[in-house]
Amino acid sequence: DVTVLRLGHRPGRDERMTTHVGLTARALGADRIVMAGSARDRTDTIVDITERFGGPMAVETTAEPKGFIRNFEGTVVHLTMYGEPIQDVEGEIRDAHADGPLLLVVGAEKVPFEVYERADFNVGVTNQPHSEVASLAVFLDRLFEGRELDREWEDPDRVVVPMETGKRVVDPDERTE
Ligand code: SAM
Repeated sequence: DVTVLRLGHRPGRDERMTTHVGLTARALGADRIVMAGSARDRTDTIVDITERFGGPMAVETTAEPKGFIRNFEGTVVHLTMYGEPIQDVEGEIRDAHADGPLLLVVGAEKVPFEVYERADFNVGVTNQPHSEVASLAVFLDRLFEGRELDREWEDPDRVVVPMETGKRVVDPDERTE
């Protein structure tokens, strides 16, 4: 299983980014999002979307992100533009994930050095500055090698029926008729 830890965000600037980190984590195969610091009050939308469109997706908060990372039993990956290129380490990370849980840490503001030290892998999705949402999406797609696109959703109230043109959202029971 994959947990995403969102380190705090800059109040007034990053609220929607935090929501998008959660929604992207859910859509692309993570099972749990943990919000830390000021990001802790941005759980509502992710809970709401999970209730409507299905899970599994646990939404949690922590007041002690450093302790959470330190004590995580599994492989810790920190996404940072300063890290090793994803294309060089993705195989090793996939092997580690096959053996146990993975924690994926994304920042917002300056990330404490302890995180770099504790991480088993500091991973760059390019070594260019961009966005936590983009790096998370590319990372998860590489980790799952595209299989996340076929994810099955448990207990949805609403299901999108994909179509060439138009929008159709139905009850899951209607879909099978
Ligand atoms: N200036 C901050 C620092 O020194 O750590 C980073 C700011 S960046 C907008 C916010 C987050 O996006 C980072 O903590 C990292 O998780 C992610 N990020 C940005 N660019 C990235 C890249 N090229 N590869 C991986 N993650 C990246």
